[in-house]
Amino acid sequence: MAADARTWIDANQLEHEGAAIGYVIREGTSPEEELYRELGYPRDIEPRPVGRVGAGCDCGWRSPRWRAEAAWQPYGVALAQGDQERVHALWWRHLELDVIGGGVTGIGALPRRARS
Ligand SMILES: [Zn+2]
Repeated sequence: MAADARTWIDANQLEHEGAAIGYVIREGTSPEEELYRELGYPRDIEPRPVGRVGAGCDCGWRSPRWRAEAAWQPYGVALAQGDQERVHALWWRHLELDVIGGGVTGIGALPRRARS
């Protein structure tokens, strides 16, 4: 397990801050239904095991999620090394395709001030 909760940022894309996202079964649903919600502050302040993880970004982007051994440690997700590398790589791919490349979400590659 990684000991720390980490976020990532690119100096040229400050509005995109990436992090591992932890998912747990929604309260009031059964595990068989597989209905998940994201862990996050301020709702989740106690450490707890996490059943699914994925990469996320402050802009709202989320990667597909997968089953993993992880733990919510306010206020982030501690992952095994391989999962940590996977979420980081997925977030970088989001920056490349959705932000810098501009071809997927239409955010565009131009600096904001150049568009208005
Ligand atoms: Zn983003």
